[in-house]
Amino acid sequence: MSFAGGCQCGAVRFRVAGELGRASVCHCRMCQKAFAAPYGALVTVRSEQLVWTRGERGRFQSSNKVSRGFCRECGTPLTFEWDEAKIDLAICAFDAPAEIAPVVQLRAASAVPWATHVSDLPAGDSAASAAHDAAVVSRQHPDRDTVEWSTPDDVIPVAPTEDRDP
Ligand SMILES: [Zn+2]
Ligand SMILES: [Zn+2]
Repeated sequence: MSFAGGCQCGAVRFRVAGELGRASVCHCRMCQKAFAAPYGALVTVRSEQLVWTRGERGRFQSSNKVSRGFCRECGTPLTFEWDEAKIDLAICAFDAPAEIAPVVQLRAASAVPWATHVSDLPAGDSAASAAHDAAVVSRQHPDRDTVEWSTPDDVIPVAPTEDRDP
């Protein structure tokens, strides 16, 4: 059994061998900020289970006790690191996040009040959304390992230059 994942641009990829540990959401203000999201969703694994299969994460020491890993190219949050023997990985960075359901919420007292009501909101998708989606050319890394992948700098299309025919 193994679980792979990585950042949005594909510059950083990882694989976890074996069973995953506890999956949680954390409502603390640091997770809100680090994920720029209502909460962080993280799963704990033992350090020896984790292999970085492509690239290297950047890290920000967010406190005296914790550093947070992210992709330097695209900014995707990837880790919460607080222990030599264990590491938390961002659940939604995995290729199949639906398989990794949180079983506990942490620091609920600091939850953004509306975060718990999102599933009650009306759907806002429209015909215009569908048309927009249909025209999107995604540069997001696919939800699987790839043998080769260009980082964003390599795939930005170059605008055609003006015709300079003599
Ligand atoms: Zn990236
Ligand atoms: Zn937190």
